[in-house]
Amino acid sequence: MIETPLRRWLHRRQRPERYTRLEELLATARLDRVGILRKQRDDLAGIVAFAAAHVSYYRRRFAGLTDFATLPILTKSDVTADLDELLADTADRSEAKIGHTGGSTGKPLAFWYDEAKHELMRAGMMRSYMGSGWRPGQKILNFWGARQDTVSGGVFGAGYGDFIAAERTIAAHEYTERQLHAWADTLLRYQPVLLQGYASILAELARFVIARRLPMPKSLIGVYSTAEVLEDSQRELMQRAFSCSVFNQYGSREIPNIACECRHGNMHVFTDMVFLESAADERLLITSLTNRLMPMIRYEIGDAGRLLDGDCACGSPFPLMAMSMCRQNDLIRTSGGKTVHPSYFNKLLYGMTQIRQYQWQQTAPDRIVLSVVASPPLSDDTAGSLQENIHRDVDATMSLELRQVDEIPRTVSGKHRFVIGLPD
Ligand SMILES: [Zn+2]
Repeated sequence: MIETPLRRWLHRRQRPERYTRLEELLATARLDRVGILRKQRDDLAGIVAFAAAHVSYYRRRFAGLTDFATLPILTKSDVTADLDELLADTADRSEAKIGHTGGSTGKPLAFWYDEAKHELMRAGMMRSYMGSGWRPGQKILNFWGARQDTVSGGVFGAGYGDFIAAERTIAAHEYTERQLHAWADTLLRYQPVLLQGYASILAELARFVIARRLPMPKSLIGVYSTAEVLEDSQRELMQRAFSCSVFNQYGSREIPNIACECRHGNMHVFTDMVFLESAADERLLITSLTNRLMPMIRYEIGDAGRLLDGDCACGSPFPLMAMSMCRQNDLIRTSGGKTVHPSYFNKLLYGMTQIRQYQWQQTAPDRIVLSVVASPPLSDDTAGSLQENIHRDVDATMSLELRQVDEIPRTVSGKHRFVIGLPD
C-alpha cells in the first residue's frame, strides 16, 4: 500500500491547517484526565469572557451575571431570532458564511461558519477515526444523506480529487434496490478502510449485503455511524455485513465533534471541543470551546444524555457519557400526561423481519400513525396486536393507524426518524 503515505503527504500539503489542528488535538488526547479537565476549565472561562466582550448577544444577556450556572440557555429559537447579533465583532464578515442544519425536527437552523471552523471540524473527525486504527491517507467511503453536503462547496463536495483526499462520497438522499447493489459494488472495488455515514443508510446497505450474501472487502476496519440515533439492531446488521467494529459518533453541524465511541464501545466526550451539561431530565446543554466566530454557550441542542463517572480500559483520558436513545421531540406524550420513550415503539416491531423501514408519528394527543415499508405487508392480526399493546401500555384512548407505504420521506437533512412526537 505505497499509495497511503503518498496520499497523506499530498493531503497534508493541500490542507496544512487541518493537519496542524489534528496534531494539536492529538497532543491534548495524550494529557491525563486532570490535565484535560484543567484545560477544559480554562477554555470555558476563556470562551465565556470572549463572548461577553465581543458578542453583542451575550453582552446583553450576560449583564450582571457572574456564575456560569446562572447564564441563560441558548435555544434554537434564540439562534434563529438573533443570528446576526451572535456573530463576534472580531469576525471578518467577508469570510463568514451561513450554514444550515437540516435539524432532526426538519426545521433548518442557520449558523455562522468559516474555513477555520470547517478545518477544525474535519481534524476532529480525523482524530475520531484514528480511534479505530485508521490513519490519515487511508481510504474512507461516505454515505451521506444531506443533499447540501454532497454538492460542490458542501462538506464532502469540495473540489479536491478523490485520490488525494482518500475519500469518496456517495450521495444517498434516496435509493432503490439497484442503487444498493451499485453501492455494494463500489464498496468492493474502492476497498475503503472506513465507512462513514447516516445510521439508517448504512443499516439499509448492511441488510442488503446480508440478504444477497455479497462479499465485502477485507480492508474494512470500522464503520462510523453519525447524524441519527443508532439503534442496537442497526449496529448488529452493520457488524454482520461489514465484519468490523461500529463506532457511534455524536456531533451536530453547528457544534461538531461532541463525543465518539472508542474500541471498547464507550462514548468519550471531547472536552477540548465542548463543555457538556446534563440537566435533571437529561436534556443536554453544550458549550463550544472553540467557536469564536459565533460562540455557542449553554446551547440546548435537543438531545438527551448523561455524563458518566469512571475510566475506560482503552486508556483515553476523555470522560464518558451515555446518549439516551432519543431526542426531546422523539418522546410520545399522551393526553393522560404520560411520556413514553421511543424505544418502546421501536421494540414493538422487533422480530418483524419483513419490515424494511418504519416510522411512528404522533399526529394528535390520542392518535399515532405507523408507516411501514414491508414485504409481505403486515397482517390485520399484527395490526390488531400492535393496537392492543398500545392500549395496554401507552394509553387506553390512543388509536393506531397503520399505513403500508412504498417509502418513508426523510427530513430536509436526509435524516430518518423512527419516532416523531408532537411538536412542543
Ligand atoms: Zn474508551
